[in-house]
Amino acid sequence: MIIAIDGPSGAGKSTLGKMLAKKLNLLYLDTGAMYRAVALAVFQADETIENEKKAAEIAKHSKIELVGEPDSPQIKLNGQDVSDKIRTNEIGQMASVVSSVSEVRKILVEHQRTLGETAPNGCVLDGRDIGTVVFPNADLKFFLTAKPEARARRRYEEDAQRGQISTYEETLAEINRRDERDISREDSPLSIAEDAIVIDTSELNLREVYEQMLEEIKVKSDEGRGTRDK
Ligand code: C5P
Repeated sequence: MIIAIDGPSGAGKSTLGKMLAKKLNLLYLDTGAMYRAVALAVFQADETIENEKKAAEIAKHSKIELVGEPDSPQIKLNGQDVSDKIRTNEIGQMASVVSSVSEVRKILVEHQRTLGETAPNGCVLDGRDIGTVVFPNADLKFFLTAKPEARARRRYEEDAQRGQISTYEETLAEINRRDERDISREDSPLSIAEDAIVIDTSELNLREVYEQMLEEIKVKSDEGRGTRDK
């Protein structure tokens, strides 16, 4: 089973993706972490993020691994654990710039498809283009969204827990800048797949969204079973 979760930053995709993967015993793939890892590699190579050719070259030669259980995923760049290093706002902005380079997307999408297809029980992937580009035939597609203020509030609280110092206003501005870039890029912009289930999480708590998603998955599995039994 392949479950796609797309949406803007701070909508709850990764928390819910991890919860679902754990519950259903599926692999969890945080595709945003892969774009962040490429951004970090570009940064470590002292290259400007605008150099598209160089970014593609770096993406091609970087070894990006996602390891660990869904509730404690680790991302490795060329063998080094960079799970914390990729979580800064600076790397987030750089990731949204580097993710508009088609060649970089091509490399990462291929990697994501291979990982998803070879996962023994299936996979939950969260990102921006999973249901539209990476797995257009996913069994289930969710598009999680929320008002920018609600997303910024959550992201701000997450950052604070990680010890990152910023204000709510800065976080809101950062999120808006990134969303704008993700929506308006030419290659695989953030968009809602036709057959996606859209959930606005602004007024819902985590548990409520989780239950709603699980219910949709159950309906889908029952449908599949019904068709097979006929
Ligand atoms: O999900 P996260 O906020 O960590 O993603 C960082 C950036 O990576 C996003 O702002 C977006 O530009 C890019 N991204 C993407 N496609 C994906 C996942 C992330 O373009 N599937």
